[in-house]
Amino acid sequence: MHLDLTGRTALITGSTSGIGHAIATAFARSGAHVVLNGRDEKRTAEIAALMVTETGNPDIRPVAADVSTAEGADTLIAAVPDVDILINNTGIFGAQPVFEIPDSEWTRFFEVNVLSGVRLARHYTPRMVTRGWGRVVFISSESGVMTPTEMVHYGMTKTAQLAVSRGMAQSVAGTGVTVNSVLPGPTLTPGVEELLADRIGADVPLDEAGRRFIAEERPTSLLGRLITPEEVANMVLYVSSPLASATTGGALRVDGGVAPTLIP
Ligand code: NAD
Repeated sequence: MHLDLTGRTALITGSTSGIGHAIATAFARSGAHVVLNGRDEKRTAEIAALMVTETGNPDIRPVAADVSTAEGADTLIAAVPDVDILINNTGIFGAQPVFEIPDSEWTRFFEVNVLSGVRLARHYTPRMVTRGWGRVVFISSESGVMTPTEMVHYGMTKTAQLAVSRGMAQSVAGTGVTVNSVLPGPTLTPGVEELLADRIGADVPLDEAGRRFIAEERPTSLLGRLITPEEVANMVLYVSSPLASATTGGALRVDGGVAPTLIP
């Protein structure tokens, strides 16, 4: 199976590290024109330059913008008016007891994790429809179907993404544009390293902290270890490719079996 994205422009939000970075790298290796997004201009440019060297794809374009704001979305859209593939990856997480989460945090989580993707999809998807081809992917989480007690606000946003993605897929039925969500399970990224330091201890080696986190806090995992960002990127690459033309309105798991349900 050869996943070829030659000639397609792909925007991946929050792609200077973690899962987004792995997706951007996989897309670059498959020949896409990649739009790399982070908030800091210098860092985003540096990471794009590194990606050119690592992948041999010269067509990696850095665009710095904070996609959690309307202004940031406008900046991105002004710089790149059209894309063929939109990956709404930017997301924040962090533990906080549910009865201690203030309004401002509920709102912040919703704006960064949900509204960021809604704004970009609202601009890009109708234009994909006009051209008769496109892919929109929301990076949700297993937390969208298994609300984590330690971060209910995060779970709320990840469930919301499933509804948004399904509803958008229904709205573009039969157009050649697909909309899906991908549900990674616990994945070793810089964001999760911070979470592990907080929950398990900063002095515990990463490998062991990961296994302890899975055993203690995600015991339903069939994988028994943290997932790698590249393993998530493989699924995103497939569902963004021309080969995934019959997959739309779906919620696709890369969670190591942690969600103990048959569907999704
Ligand atoms: P991460 O924190 O390691 O990386 C996120 C990236 O997004 C960083 O480069 C950060 O600078 C960037 N970013 C954050 N806010 C931004 C903003 N407002 N505008 C532009 N860029 C911004 O995160 P990750 O672990 O790679 O998570 C990526 C996505 O995957 C998130 O949506 C997260 O909810 C989801 N996810 C992660 C896991 C996991 O275990 N790591 C599991 C399930 C789902």
